[in-house]
Amino acid sequence: MYESIICSDQLEADRRQTIVVVGGGLGGLFTGALLAKNGRVVTVLEKNSALGGGLHTFRRGGVEYATGMHVFGGFSEGNIMDRICRYLGIDKSLHLVATDADCMDEVFTPYGRYRIPQGRENYVGYLSTLFPHEAEGIRQYVDALYRLASAEMSSFLDNASSSGALGEDQFLWPADALIDYYVADPRLRSLLSYLAPLYSGIKGETPAFEHAMVNTLHIDGSSMFASGSQRMADALAGVIRDAGGEIVTGCEVERVVVAERRAVAVETVEGRRFEADQFVWAVDPRQLVEKASGGTFPQSFCNRVKEATYSYSAFKLYLKLGHGMISYTKHPMYFFNGDDERGAWNAADVSIGDWPRCAMAVMGGEQGAVNGEQTAETMTVVAPMSYDWFGRWSDSVVGHRPEDYYLFKKKLEQKLFALLRRYMPELEGSVESVFSSTPLTIRDYNGIHRGSMYGFHKDCNHIMYTKMSVNTKVGNLFMTGQSVNLHGMCGVAITSVMAAEAIMPEKKLLE
Ligand SMILES: Cc1cc2nc3c(=O)[nH]c(=O)nc-3n(C[C@H](O)[C@H](O)[C@H](O)COP(=O)(O)OP(=O)(O)OC[C@H]3O[C@@H](n4cnc5c(N)ncnc54)[C@H](O)[C@@H]3O)c2cc1C
Repeated sequence: MYESIICSDQLEADRRQTIVVVGGGLGGLFTGALLAKNGRVVTVLEKNSALGGGLHTFRRGGVEYATGMHVFGGFSEGNIMDRICRYLGIDKSLHLVATDADCMDEVFTPYGRYRIPQGRENYVGYLSTLFPHEAEGIRQYVDALYRLASAEMSSFLDNASSSGALGEDQFLWPADALIDYYVADPRLRSLLSYLAPLYSGIKGETPAFEHAMVNTLHIDGSSMFASGSQRMADALAGVIRDAGGEIVTGCEVERVVVAERRAVAVETVEGRRFEADQFVWAVDPRQLVEKASGGTFPQSFCNRVKEATYSYSAFKLYLKLGHGMISYTKHPMYFFNGDDERGAWNAADVSIGDWPRCAMAVMGGEQGAVNGEQTAETMTVVAPMSYDWFGRWSDSVVGHRPEDYYLFKKKLEQKLFALLRRYMPELEGSVESVFSSTPLTIRDYNGIHRGSMYGFHKDCNHIMYTKMSVNTKVGNLFMTGQSVNLHGMCGVAITSVMAAEAIMPEKKLLE
């Protein structure tokens, strides 16, 4: 009896704990919402004036554009994102649309156009019809994808390191080696890599488990936001506010004060100080190492973070389409240039003359039917790009870049548009306005080193350097976000579950 009173007092005290989350992007908001849902008093500090990080959308010319969230898996019934969002009670407010069941992705290559269907059996069947001589290999390859993804998912949900999954034979093979093991046709090998730009796939380095996770999540059903990813940021912020928490925007953290192995406070550029019982770092880990008081972390940790390589960056083209001119497609389109069979690996590894090697495009804002067909309002295009091309302007900031930066940007816009026009000639004359963003834009808005799309690059040859723990050496300081485990909608949300469970060890949130 006495013991149970102590326990319930302790639980009550835990529930009232104050938590400061640094970074109001996907990871910060999911972690904050999970903690708030369990009674913690959460304050999220976001440097930008608008919340959301990769979820942020903005309006220009009367239409809305997404910055870093276009298509994602995990929302089919009972799948991981569906479970997390139901748990938080936000599933009904997201306005998701499932991509077309008979064509979740449309892939345009110099050899042909592929309409990849959703569903494991449909996927195998479609590819086997196109490549009948590879039918057996395709089935075995897809079985391997599901086996690896399931091992990876269990290791996440057990809140363990990947050690359990490491027992899986092919877990740490390079993704391209996994494909090559099962199929031999060069065109099929190339086609099976078409999603590589969604995880900045690098030949010989990207682990098979990452390729398997992204591919299976999509095969099981991918989704897009019908009315903008900002809705998800706002819904998550709502969970935090409803539980008595606070979201502070325009609040850039510049120092983490640590004393005697405990984080005491964070201080902002404007001189504000926020104290709390626990802290969650939901920003690039490189910033943590730079901003924590001297001697906070062992040198080995600092070196590991500073020496990490980052996934590549991207150039983005935003097109406002003329009214009723372009048919709306409810799925992403992938465009490939050139006539080699390199597939989508190392997509940013290209000379300026040969750029872009590939691009992904999604349409937005259905305008209603014209001649019986839905038409699109916008088209947003993402093309992998190396940050190095913009290194010479790295000292400049948004709104104050030199003239030659803008000239270079214009040139790249034209090159990217030429790739689109090659496969969609109807775009010529259908575009009302165009603007673009560069790796420097991503760096400055998201606060990520080298404008990286997905944070730390995952390399199967150095796996221990690319997966990190949500716990740090500072007992009350935790990490979340894309560099900690996997990136993207599912990777970051799952890592948020891990971070929240590390703070509330008595909880198993998704049981
Ligand atoms: C162009 C592009 C397209 C993408 N498309 C997709 C896609 O279609 N599907 C998908 O699943 N993933 C996509 N991603 C990846 C996805 O956006 C990221 O994996 C995800 O947003 C990472 O979440 P995060 O919380 O780690 O970082 P973020 O969402 O970037 O959040 C970090 C937040 O911290 C803030 N911040 C930084 N420094 C500070 C500081 N010092 N103080 C306070 N706040 C700070 C930032 O402003 C930001 O809001 C894309 C990424 C890019 C760049």
